[in-house]
Amino acid sequence: MDLNTIKEVARPKARGELSGWRDGDAFLGGGTWLFSEPQPKLTRLVDLAALGWQPLTVSAEGLEIAATCTVAQLDALTLPVEWTAAPLIGQCCRAFLASFKVWNAATVGGNICLALPAGPMISLTAALDGEALLWAADSSERRLKIVDVVTGPQKNALRPGEVMRSISVPAAALTTRTAYRQVSLANHGRSGALVIGTRAANGSFALTITASTPRPIRLRYDALPTIDTLRADIEAAVDVWYDDIHGLPAWRRHMTLHFAQEILAELSAGAR
Ligand SMILES: Cc1cc2nc3c(=O)[nH]c(=O)nc-3n(C[C@H](O)[C@H](O)[C@H](O)COP(=O)(O)OP(=O)(O)OC[C@H]3O[C@@H](n4cnc5c(N)ncnc54)[C@H](O)[C@@H]3O)c2cc1C
Repeated sequence: MDLNTIKEVARPKARGELSGWRDGDAFLGGGTWLFSEPQPKLTRLVDLAALGWQPLTVSAEGLEIAATCTVAQLDALTLPVEWTAAPLIGQCCRAFLASFKVWNAATVGGNICLALPAGPMISLTAALDGEALLWAADSSERRLKIVDVVTGPQKNALRPGEVMRSISVPAAALTTRTAYRQVSLANHGRSGALVIGTRAANGSFALTITASTPRPIRLRYDALPTIDTLRADIEAAVDVWYDDIHGLPAWRRHMTLHFAQEILAELSAGAR
């Protein structure tokens, strides 16, 4: 839709041109959310596209995803065969309630910064130990775990004027075995629960809960826990089960606990 309060669109080409943040500004990623509803508080968009960030960089350290990388670009990536967690990327890309138009425009950074509970790029990068590089308007920068970037529904930990530059996923996380479970109330509906388990070669295990909770919840263990321990830890960690049109809290809790049990069984198979 037309955003009729917007008076200016800035198109910075270099980091130095990102300064000058003011009230009423918003960074523009793919615009799939920004242009989907009225934005009465916004007067200027700062379009990140012209910065020309390399969408994806594979190295021995892991995968660096530019915040402006689209979901379609990420899905099309071919990863080294030893990165056993690679299928998780396609699974999370397909967890979008989205048409091909959204897939081709929506960015990974935009999905994370929008901070919807059903943000599948949040699920993916939180489960794979992702870390965001944040650039402040004064040229300083900091790094924050994705699990700490999202603080609640449409709430994130970014400060005014701070832009997400990239997300780093370490090679160690990409070599884990993964188990993925997702459910929506309707076919192709927005996720009501999305739970991911990872198991490293050293036996450590992590469970990442998204969509059923207002923010991502991550539980880590040095070795596989028992199902009773895992259930108790989930109940202790989740203070609120998310409630919106895409699912009742009791259903989300039930599905999350059920998925946790399935994931534990799947990743226990072949355990040493
Ligand atoms: C049909 C349809 C289906 C959808 N389904 C889903 C779904 O299943 N799950 C879901 O989570 N969302 C969904 N969305 C919402 C939205 O399209 C996605 O969340 C999308 O990934 C947002 O990315 P974007 O690049 O388009 O963000 P934009 O619309 O460009 O921006 C979103 C927000 O993030 C900020 N932002 C963007 N990039 C940065 C950055 N690099 N640094 C700091 N701030 C930034 C913007 O200022 C804005 O506040 C859907 C939308 C539509 C229209």
